[in-house]
Amino acid sequence: MKRIFIIFLPLIVLFSYFLIKTYFKADDMEKVEKPFVVILLGPPGAGKGTHAVELSKKLGLPHISTGDLFRENLKNNTQLGQKAKAYMEKGNLVPDDVVLDMLFARVSKEDCKKGYILDGFPRTIAQAKALKGKLKDVDYIAINLQVEDEKLIERITNRIMCRSCGTPFHKIFLPPKEEGKCDKCGGELYQRDDDTEAVVKERLKVYHDQTEPLIEYYANEEKVLSNVDSRGAKDIVFNNLMDIIDKNIR
Ligand SMILES: [Zn+2]
Repeated sequence: MKRIFIIFLPLIVLFSYFLIKTYFKADDMEKVEKPFVVILLGPPGAGKGTHAVELSKKLGLPHISTGDLFRENLKNNTQLGQKAKAYMEKGNLVPDDVVLDMLFARVSKEDCKKGYILDGFPRTIAQAKALKGKLKDVDYIAINLQVEDEKLIERITNRIMCRSCGTPFHKIFLPPKEEGKCDKCGGELYQRDDDTEAVVKERLKVYHDQTEPLIEYYANEEKVLSNVDSRGAKDIVFNNLMDIIDKNIR
């Protein structure tokens, strides 16, 4: 009897070990497979687009901006694109349900299965509430990029861009070697029509009225909102973003 026990004991231990290992492995995989969504908040010019591009590369998740969604739907002349166009041609804002339909069609595509990065959406509390319904089985966090208005105005009104290759410059922080000329291709540098102080102030006003309340909205949800100081150097801000994501992923 004793001998049989001695022979079987290692087998039992081995069997239990594999059973436990398989169980925990399965559990781990389930966690990884849950989609992870990053919502980037912050005023225009705070760096949402720039950081979204880098995060997308680093995390391997698609970057979804409302601007791109509109352009894609218009270019492919989808039903939603036609709807949006009808409003835009009359000079009206595209209503929430059209924007939401575009977004939900996009995020149900295969490449969004592991998650995605939202840039410029949601823009209003109503949109955030609709999104919440969509994010039921998803881990999501919202990161608020903080920059004060004066700094944003300085950033945006000094932005210049190459007419030929699109490389961005900044009159103060990233000036071209030769004034008015692109370092890369020698093309002519210009300022976008909507990068003037008046336009920026108007966009900031809309932001404060409609979008800023989202910060409180997400702050009221448990463990969703983080704030990041976005005034400093791009790399430092990006590292802070990654720290927050690393802490929240899984
Ligand atoms: Zn150029």
